[in-house]
Amino acid sequence: MTKRNYEHDGVLSEADLKSHGLIPSKERFNKGPVVIVECVEKIPCNPCVDACSKKAITIEGSITNIPQVNFNTCNGCAICIARCPGLAIFVVNKNYNQKQASISLPYEFTPRPKIGDIVNGLDRNGKIVCKAYVIKVLDAKGLDRCAVITITVPKKYYNIVRFIKLI
Ligand code: SF4
Ligand code: SF4
Repeated sequence: MTKRNYEHDGVLSEADLKSHGLIPSKERFNKGPVVIVECVEKIPCNPCVDACSKKAITIEGSITNIPQVNFNTCNGCAICIARCPGLAIFVVNKNYNQKQASISLPYEFTPRPKIGDIVNGLDRNGKIVCKAYVIKVLDAKGLDRCAVITITVPKKYYNIVRFIKLI
């Protein structure tokens, strides 16, 4: 079986992100909410840099370089999520509670989910992996038509679920 990677099938894996330094350490995950920037294409784009008042996201040199994240500076505020035109930014709280992680993700479709909804949690390949519970919906006008949805999922999926599908 061919090992999956971004070059092979265009779907990011945790290993791809690790190879670019875009996955926090286990210790940082355990400290609380943290940003995951799933952006490995060399494209001329940088709104994520200006979005973060903590300066946790940087793009050194050329604007086409891949963003780098200072995970110790990031406080998981999620402000940057809706500012990314590539829908590539997520905030993960691995220890939302004893059994669940929370994931904040960008969502451009309508209708929006509502707090309390049960939805399907999808992996980076669009495959359904679990049920997810909507615990927060941020849908302000200033967010440029992109809502930020926070869901909870079983803890083991904290680094797997990246999209949702309404049921
Ligand atoms: S989650 Fe907040 S602190 Fe972290 S990179 Fe995004 S804007 Fe900065
Ligand atoms: S705003 Fe999004 S797509 Fe653009 S460089 Fe930052 S993470 Fe990548």
